[in-house]
Amino acid sequence: MTLGTAELIRNANRAGLAVPAFNIPYLPMMRPVIQAVIDEDTFALIEIARLEWVKFAAEGPAAVAAEFAKWQRPEYVRLHLDHVPVVDEDDLAVDYLPIIREAIGLGYQSVMVDGSRLDLEGNIRATREVVELAHAAGIPCEAELGAVLGHEAGPPPPYQDLFASGRGFTKIEEASRFVQETDCDWLSVAVGNVHGAVSGALKDQPKVAARLDIGHLQRLRDATRIPLVLHGGSGVQRSYLLEAIRTGLTKINIGTEIRQAYEREMRSSGDPSRAQEACYERTRRLLHDHLGLSATRERVLGRLDGGAQRPSG
Ligand SMILES: [Zn+2]
Repeated sequence: MTLGTAELIRNANRAGLAVPAFNIPYLPMMRPVIQAVIDEDTFALIEIARLEWVKFAAEGPAAVAAEFAKWQRPEYVRLHLDHVPVVDEDDLAVDYLPIIREAIGLGYQSVMVDGSRLDLEGNIRATREVVELAHAAGIPCEAELGAVLGHEAGPPPPYQDLFASGRGFTKIEEASRFVQETDCDWLSVAVGNVHGAVSGALKDQPKVAARLDIGHLQRLRDATRIPLVLHGGSGVQRSYLLEAIRTGLTKINIGTEIRQAYEREMRSSGDPSRAQEACYERTRRLLHDHLGLSATRERVLGRLDGGAQRPSG
């Protein structure tokens, strides 16, 4: 029997482990990323956001699903539809439902709707509609509440000011109401994390060494009782990341770091196989050194007793 992605994320959450989710803005990144996940014996999600086919070369949900199908191993990786925004990073309305329906039809194993640029009521309405679609197909739905900045064009606000003021952080009261009313399965929160830039020359810049407000994360966890998601996982300082995982942060999105490793090698050598190799090495290093998730797969699959995984009796 194959467990669904919802159960696997729940297993990881109970075991105090994280599930990394790797973004694939270029189709040739698929194979090395999946190989790195297999070689580190980790469980991970492979994901694609709308902006990766609008602003990068991922082509679209169908092309990504076809590439995934070539290399997939359900015991190691599952396919997730990342950010489909209701209003996008350039402030334009997106016809989001057909995209989500298409992905569900293509066999994506979980989806996300991002209504975080709407007001609370609008976000709840849009999310609830997508949750119903996803649940009818038997798959989980991720949503976002709060402002994870960084995808917008133009220079980002100074990070230290942003962190100190808590501006854009997911509000505790709102999170509790949002989860109750939408029935979403996972919630992407803003607790100091920022997306990597995707526009102009900024997209090649190293990310700020972001911090996370662990106390705020704990309060969000207590208020929602569902697995929380960190977007902008690249560049978050390691000590914060590890503490956040212990606090109930379960899905960690990683895009910028592996994208830049691939792009740098493409620019310097122009050789796709060397770029794939760079992407493979970076993904392994992230899993092994940065996240410490090597050889954790069996615990996510629920096959080894990780301590508090299963209630006794
Ligand atoms: Zn994101």
